[in-house]
Formats: sequence, C-alpha cells, structure tokens
Amino acid sequence: MSFSAALPRRKSHAVKVGRSVMGGGHPVLVQSMTNTDTADAEATAAQVAELFLAGSESVRITVDRAEAAAQVPRIRELLDKRGLIVPLTGDFHYNGHTLLKDYPDCAKALDKYRINPGNVGFGEKQDRNFAMMIETAIALQKAVRIGVNWGSLDQALLTQLMDENAKMSQPLPARQVMHEAIVQSALHSAARAQAIGLAANQIVLSAKCSEVQDLIAVYRLLAARCEYALHLGLTEAGMGSKGIVASTAAMGVLLQEGIGDTIRVSLTPEPGGERTREVIVAQEILQTMGLRAFTPMVIACPGCGRTTSTVFQELARDIQDHVRARQSEWRAKYPGFETLTLAVMGCIVNGPGESKHADIGISLPGTGELPSAPIYMDGKKSTTLRGENLAEQFKNIVEEYVVRRWG
Ligand code: SF4
Repeated sequence: MSFSAALPRRKSHAVKVGRSVMGGGHPVLVQSMTNTDTADAEATAAQVAELFLAGSESVRITVDRAEAAAQVPRIRELLDKRGLIVPLTGDFHYNGHTLLKDYPDCAKALDKYRINPGNVGFGEKQDRNFAMMIETAIALQKAVRIGVNWGSLDQALLTQLMDENAKMSQPLPARQVMHEAIVQSALHSAARAQAIGLAANQIVLSAKCSEVQDLIAVYRLLAARCEYALHLGLTEAGMGSKGIVASTAAMGVLLQEGIGDTIRVSLTPEPGGERTREVIVAQEILQTMGLRAFTPMVIACPGCGRTTSTVFQELARDIQDHVRARQSEWRAKYPGFETLTLAVMGCIVNGPGESKHADIGISLPGTGELPSAPIYMDGKKSTTLRGENLAEQFKNIVEEYVVRRWG
C-alpha cells in the first residue's frame, strides 16, 4: 500500500501549532484530549504524556477555571522536563477571555486556543470576549481553533436563519437550516478573527455534530466555502464499537474526499479503560485508508468452521501485541518499519493467497490439515513452521525481516 499522497487533498492553509503543522497538504494529524482535572498538574501532565507517547500529535486540555489556568505552565514544565515536545491546546468556554487575561503564563504556555463561538457570551459581550481572546492569540502568535459544536450552537444566529427560512416561498427542512447555521457560525467567527488581525494561517475550524450524516453534510459545505485548515471529529461519538464505527463512517467519507487536516476520535472510555484508545483508533482510521503509516498492520481472517482450535486467534493477538510492544524501539532504529504488513490466516483456503500480498504471512493449518504453517515473505514461500511454539518462531522471523529490510 502506498501512503500519504494516495488521495487528493483539499487545499488549505498550513497552521503551525507548536512543532506540528495542520493543513497545507501536511499529513493529517492525530489529536486527543485529556479527561483529568487540569488543576491537578501531575495527573494531567502524566495523561498528556501517555497520549503523546501513544501517538497523539497534539493534546487538548480543559481550562475551565482559575485553578486550572494557574497550573497550565506547570504542566508544560513537567512535559518539557521529560523532553516531550507535545503541542498543547487549551479548551475554553464561557470565561476564556478572563482566564487568558488573568493568567498570562497560561496563555504563553499553550500552543493553541480552542474557542467555541457559541459559548463566549451574548450580544455585545460576545463580540468583546471573542475579540479579547483573538487579540491574545495575535500578540503571542498562537493558533486558534474556532470550534463550533451543534450542542452549543449560537442560538441567535440559528433563530435568525430559521426565521428567514420560514418566510421563504419554499422553506428548507429545519435540519438543512441548522447545517447552514453551524457553517455560518464558524465562517463568521473566522472572518471576524481575521478582521481583528489574526492571520488565516493561524485559524483551524471545526464544526462538530454527533450524527454521521450531519457531520458529512456540514464539513462538505465548510470545505467548499473556505481554505481554513479543518479539524474533523464526530462529537459525543459514544462508547466501544458504536463510537468507533460512527467516527470511522463519518470521517472515512470526508477523508476520502480530501477533507480534514487533523482528526480526533471522541470515544467515551469504558470504566477503567485506556484513554489512549482514541489515539489508536484515529491512527488506524488513517492507516487503513492509506493516508499515513504509524505501526505495522496485522491482517487476519475472521476464522470459520475450518478453525476449530484457538491457535489462530491466539497467534493473531500475540503478533498484534508484539508489534505494538516493539514499535518504540523499531521507530528509533528502523525508519520505515511502520509500513510493514503481516498476515495471519486460519487455513489453506485464503491463507497462501492473502499471505502473499503481505510482507510476511503465515497460513496456519485449519481443521484436518497437516500440522504445518507455510510462511510467505515478499510474495514467495520462504519456509514452513512446525511444532508447538509457532508464535515465537513467527516473531523471530518478523524481527529478522525488520532488521534486514530497514536496518
Ligand atoms: S482463511 Fe480459512 S479459516 Fe480463515 S476465514 Fe477463510 S476459510 Fe475460514
């Protein structure tokens, strides 16, 4: 599979966020967000580090009150001490203008401010509060994400568009008017930020919805009407497979159309579950679409009545865990290893064929087949494994291949 340049991309401004760049044809970035109390600097820095080391290229933290804003410089310091150059975004609602003014070190420590135009006040206050945040971003040369969310959409704008629509001879469906309100809210705010003096290449836009079809419709409109870098994400995607499927369905369509410069998968973690799951899922969306490569991919068949033992499932899981465990060392020593593809197949029906398409494939014996497992490397049969410790033998083959090819 070829990566990065495989799909045409929408033209967008390149926005610098710390050491990362979003848009302008750069690779689509993976983002995530902490769920710790930002006032607890140690816990937040630890979770930012965890997300960053899992592959998140930018991490957002909540800045909701004075105690949180006061701890942002400490969080930056803790990360810097560990040598973790992860861009930090501050998530502001309602009081961002006050917090950025009262805590200038917080404003400096962040690389990007997320502003929700629906949550910055009403009427004249809305304009003034928004301007204060934009002026800080201009003075400190920070990027801004104008993040509209349909759960907190600017109600005055929505009411105005609904009223105008009602007076039309053929009114549009209410949902379509709401899409328009989301898009206009984002574009009006971006135009206003530019009028205040923020450059187009300091602006990232997002317009998140929680329904797949709404998200696709809104981002198509947004992509057609501007060249701002776009942050994609289905908000409140949900838990477990539902959250993953809905996010992938929505973002897959848009990414395929070249829309999206950075993505976040907003998964609700299972109780006690790993926060890093959202990073892995975002990487897997980009990698399975051929947009980026992060880690070797293991292709495995689903198994069927020809695989009556658990050997095949265990090997697929062992190999997936093994490549994830080895990736930090491989990343340092063997650049390019992340494009490695492995196939773990359950029987002779599709085993040899699929294995030949991967860099390395193993075709395990199905029920009633001889207890041997042919290995295919670069499309050709290379050896046959036998015995009890197939997993260990296969891992050794993978190690040798990585060293030989990328060493
Ligand atoms: S490769 Fe064999 S075991 Fe796997 S799904 Fe196909 S027929 Fe079943």
